[in-house]
Amino acid sequence: MANTEPKKKIWLATPTMHGDELTYMAEAYHTNWMSTVGANINEVERLACETVGCKHAVGLACGTAALHMAMKLAGVRPGERVFCTDMTFAATVNPVVYEQAVPVFIDTEPDTWNMDPVALERAFEKYPEVRVVVIVHLYGTPAKLDELRAVCDRHGAVIIEDAAESLGATYKGKQTGSFGTYNCISFNGNKIITGSSGGMLLTDDKDAADKVRKWSTQSRDNAPWYQHTEVGYNYRMSNVIAGVVRGQFPYLQEHIDRKRAIFDRYKAAFADLPVKMNPYEADRAVPNFWLSCMIIDKNAMCRQTRGDLRASFVPEPGKSCPTEILEALAAQNIEGRPIWKPMHMQPIYTDNDFVPAVDGADVGADIFARGLCLPSDIKMTVEEQERVIEIVRSCFE
Ligand SMILES: *Cc1c(COP(=O)(O)O)cnc(C)c1O
Repeated sequence: MANTEPKKKIWLATPTMHGDELTYMAEAYHTNWMSTVGANINEVERLACETVGCKHAVGLACGTAALHMAMKLAGVRPGERVFCTDMTFAATVNPVVYEQAVPVFIDTEPDTWNMDPVALERAFEKYPEVRVVVIVHLYGTPAKLDELRAVCDRHGAVIIEDAAESLGATYKGKQTGSFGTYNCISFNGNKIITGSSGGMLLTDDKDAADKVRKWSTQSRDNAPWYQHTEVGYNYRMSNVIAGVVRGQFPYLQEHIDRKRAIFDRYKAAFADLPVKMNPYEADRAVPNFWLSCMIIDKNAMCRQTRGDLRASFVPEPGKSCPTEILEALAAQNIEGRPIWKPMHMQPIYTDNDFVPAVDGADVGADIFARGLCLPSDIKMTVEEQERVIEIVRSCFE
């Protein structure tokens, strides 16, 4: 009888637990520190400082909350323009809008798929008054930090680093999340380590960290009654969540090593296909390889059409496209994902300015059209990855 059992699902990236998480969660329970105070929070803040190499860390409900707090610390005002990485998850830029400021999107460079320093310089020529720049390390690959920082320094702008995807990645030996004035990491369920949720604001500025501690716990003044002189937020991390994060931290390097092995296997397996893996600057940067992505050579793309909500393609021998590959994977119960659709292409941000390195260029749109994220779950077996590889290869037959 033919085996009609559906094959076990292969995921993009899911939490990988080790056991210690449960111990620390149980400790929170048994000591009744079930709220937003406790040993787990103190310990994960210490661990984050030690790992990333920053002086202060404030545990928060999520990375998005950390980015929102960073906007407040940078003093972003209503109507003010803020330069943002264009090809990213919307959570990078939405906090700009929470403060009623206006994101201006800076195009992507092809070497790391991050903010293009040349486009950033051009943006400052157009908007010299801008004071804040939000830089992402996409899929765990460090951006061109030296060049970006030189441009920001020249124009007196503050950097907010969105290191949500890049915890553990280094640039010239230094951890991402330590380059900006205010930095953010995330412990969302599919990140390199997770608390199921959670995030942190990282900074060397004690005053800034103290402000975030206050704002994130409803901005209570030091009075005998509930008194408030500033708007507050309920953004603090739970001590139960912190227990999960605490149990994960010792496994960060192991997770990175396993992610790297996945990346290297894809790279070797696709060496003879007209595709490339997501690039990084091997001489300066060590990514955390959070997601393995691939991009199809221009001349090996079949015709693909993407509307606002739907995609289609025309199959062609020897050629393929992300839509064909994602559909082929999904048909075998395998989860891939398109590249983050650039912010300047999002319906919500169509009125916002977009600055490429040269007029008419759009590197982000091109990577979005030709790239995709491959299953990068560290519990995926070599045999399961072979299946993914076979399906991708078959799309080019
Ligand atoms: C996940 C992510 C965030 C948001 O983190 P949450 O903890 O989910 O709020 C922000 N920016 C980027 C680039 C992310 O990938």
